[in-house]
Amino acid sequence: MMAIRSWKFRIYPTKEQEKELQYYFYECKNLWNYLLEHTKEYYEKTKRFPTRKQLYLLTKKKTKIFSQVAQNIADKLTKALKGMIATKKKGGKAGFPRFKPIERMKSFTYPQFGFKLNGQLLLSKIGEIQIKKHREVKGKTKTLTIKQMPSGKWYAVFASEVEMMPTRNKGPKVGIDLGIEHFGHLSNDSVIANPRHLKKSENKLKQAQKLLSKKKKGSKNRKRAKSRVARAYEKVTNDRRDFLHKASRKLANSYFLIAMEDLNVHGLSKGFLAKHVLDCSWAEFKGMLHYKAEEAGSEVVLVDAAYTSQECSSCGLIRKKTLAERWHNCSCGASMHRDFNAAKNILKRATGGRREARPFRPETPVESGPLPERVSSADESGNSVCEDGSLTL
Ligand SMILES: [Zn+2]
Repeated sequence: MMAIRSWKFRIYPTKEQEKELQYYFYECKNLWNYLLEHTKEYYEKTKRFPTRKQLYLLTKKKTKIFSQVAQNIADKLTKALKGMIATKKKGGKAGFPRFKPIERMKSFTYPQFGFKLNGQLLLSKIGEIQIKKHREVKGKTKTLTIKQMPSGKWYAVFASEVEMMPTRNKGPKVGIDLGIEHFGHLSNDSVIANPRHLKKSENKLKQAQKLLSKKKKGSKNRKRAKSRVARAYEKVTNDRRDFLHKASRKLANSYFLIAMEDLNVHGLSKGFLAKHVLDCSWAEFKGMLHYKAEEAGSEVVLVDAAYTSQECSSCGLIRKKTLAERWHNCSCGASMHRDFNAAKNILKRATGGRREARPFRPETPVESGPLPERVSSADESGNSVCEDGSLTL
C-alpha cells in the first residue's frame, strides 16, 4: 500500500533570495486573482468553467515565474472549483473561491520538477538555498512547498509517496487511558508523562502575549511584540508536536494493537477541561498514532468510553468515582491507580470484551510526517496568531 508522507525542513535564504521568494508570493497572488476573475467572467458568459488546459495557457501569458509553480496555482483553482461543484451537487452551500490578499499567499508549490535536494536546496530560477536537512526524505518525492511562517522563518516541505509495511500479525497489545495527571497511562502500568519543557515554552508565550496586549495599536513596538508572540507560538506548537510524534512513534513501534477510548475530544474541550485537552492534544495524538501504526503494521482500535474509569477491571463491578478520586479500590480486592484500571478496561474491550470496538479511521485525512512539525496546506498564510495576540488552535 502506498501513502503520502511529508518532511519539513528549515531553510535559510539570503536577503536577495528572500526578495525573490517574496516576489513569487506576489506573482502567485496576482495569478490566483487573475485566473479567478477570468473563471468568473467565463462562467457568466458560458455557464461553464474553463478547463485546466485553458487555465495553463493563461498562466503562461500572465507570469514569468517557474512554469510548474504557476501551473500549480491553476491546479489549486481547478481543485477548489471542483470542490465547490461537488458541495453544490450534494445540496450544500458553496460560493466561488475567494480573491487573495498578499497576506494569504505565504507558500507556493513545485508539483514535480524545478527543485533538487543535495547538500543545499536548488530551486529553478531562484538558486541554491541553505537547508537544515535533519533526516532523509524517503520514497518518491511528489511535491515541494516553500512557505514562510508569521515569525518570518522559511520552510521547505517535501511530500513523497512511500510504501507501507505489510501487516504484522503478532506482538503485544496495549490499552491507553489518555489523561491529565499523565498524558497516558498504559495497561501494563507504565505511563507517558506530560513533558515539562512544554510548560516552559507555554509560559514564554503567555509573557509575550501579555507584553503585546500593552502595546499601542499601529505602533512599531506592537509590531515587534506581535512577531515575538508569533515566534513563541511556533515554539509551543513545535515542542508539543515533537512530543506527540515521539510518543506515538514509540507506541506504534512497540505494540501490535493499541486500544484507546473513542472520546469526543471536541465536545470535551468546551467544558472545564478545555485547556488541558488542548494542551495534550489528544485528537492530534490519535491521528499521528493512526498513521504511524499503519506504517509499522500495527493497529489502533477505539472502544466505547462509557464507564472505563468506573468499572472494575478485575470483577466488572461498576462503582461511581469523582474525578478527584485517583485510586481504584474494589470490594473484590482490586486496588490500583484509577487510570491503570481504566487502561486495563480499554484493552479488554478492544480484545473481545463485552463492548463493541472499532478500528480507528480518522474523519479528515491526517497530515503526516515523521518530523516534529505539521504541514498545513489549508492554512497558507500559516497565520495562527490573531491580531490581539490570542491564539487559534
Ligand atoms: Zn472488583
